[in-house]
Amino acid sequence: MFLVFGEFMFSSEISPYIRVRAIYDGAIGLLRRIAEENELKNMYIFTGSGYTKRKLGPRLVRLLHDYLVPNHEEAIGIKDATEGYVRMVERVAKRSGAEVLVAAGGGKTIDTVKLAAHRLKLKWISTPTVLSHDGIASPRVSIVGDKEYSVKADLPEAVVIDLRIARRAPYNLTVAGFEDVVAKLSSVKNLTLAIKESKRLQAKYDKKTMGRIESLMIDKSALKLLEDVKQLEKKNLQLNSYHKFAKDAFIDLAESLLRCGFGMHIADSSQPASGPEHLWAHSVNHILRSRGLKPKIHGELVGVGTIASLYVLEDFFNTTAYEVTWKNFQQHLRYLGAPTNAEELGLSKKILIDALIDAAELGHKRRRFTYLEEISDRLTETLARGILRQSEIIQ
Ligand SMILES: [Zn+2]
Repeated sequence: MFLVFGEFMFSSEISPYIRVRAIYDGAIGLLRRIAEENELKNMYIFTGSGYTKRKLGPRLVRLLHDYLVPNHEEAIGIKDATEGYVRMVERVAKRSGAEVLVAAGGGKTIDTVKLAAHRLKLKWISTPTVLSHDGIASPRVSIVGDKEYSVKADLPEAVVIDLRIARRAPYNLTVAGFEDVVAKLSSVKNLTLAIKESKRLQAKYDKKTMGRIESLMIDKSALKLLEDVKQLEKKNLQLNSYHKFAKDAFIDLAESLLRCGFGMHIADSSQPASGPEHLWAHSVNHILRSRGLKPKIHGELVGVGTIASLYVLEDFFNTTAYEVTWKNFQQHLRYLGAPTNAEELGLSKKILIDALIDAAELGHKRRRFTYLEEISDRLTETLARGILRQSEIIQ
């Protein structure tokens, strides 16, 4: 699986995209070697606001001491992925003369630093502490302003995932990362259908490109993770026993999240990674935010959205997403203890129905070519309710 090159661990198949990638217990310790061997200097460290700032921040400052900007004090904590924090990172980086930004934390820290690095044309290093979504090494950023929006950025210089740290993350966040990967069954399948209908997409995604995307995001990621879960089911283990009993499955999750990022890199778009299930998930969170309510975990919504999406593929298009049926998919999520319906998500039927209608409109406006538009010129409330009922998301 790994090629060992010097003391760095490379993966033969994904090394063209990122120079250094280290995924193992204690991988954090490698950062110093990465800095030394790649002649990195004037680094600046950013962390999350809680545990990572208190514990990981001081450790990284000590570890990278010789490679940081002069007068680097403690690592700077990032509370939210907002434009305000992105500007703060930009200011700090400019003022200190930073050349490399290190993002050590969850999705918000990584997105904020990733966007600041892109705007300042600086290198960045991704050190995710939670495996909760595919943004850990993607060239895309989700930032929350008036609306949540996704913008282009760059792949990191290096990705360092210390599995000892990632394993400590809450179980539901790890499952959310799993769901963000298996959701590609819906997003990539949707793209293949959209390509048939659009000359523009046919030009953008030729056979070879689509083959690479499907290989990275479906064969080596989504289907592989489902296979891992089937193995766990056979042994009657839960994903939270992943850690003790199925170490390889946990590494597969980390690798799959990276591969999804590389798929977006090849596509030069988030489209293969974000289909109707993502549009629906974003719409749900948009409705919640507009009412001053806390948004739900991305992967959890995307998982439920994928159940609906696979149902639509079977019932309206008479096909499956890579031979995974919505019912099977739902059962795998249930096995992992992930929410599969409105009640388990703690959301009302109305929000989920409204979000599905909004998703169709949003897809139309952003020319996302999702099959939602094809189902009906305008997805009616009755049709949206029917889809969610049939896929057992609402009663
Ligand atoms: Zn996602």
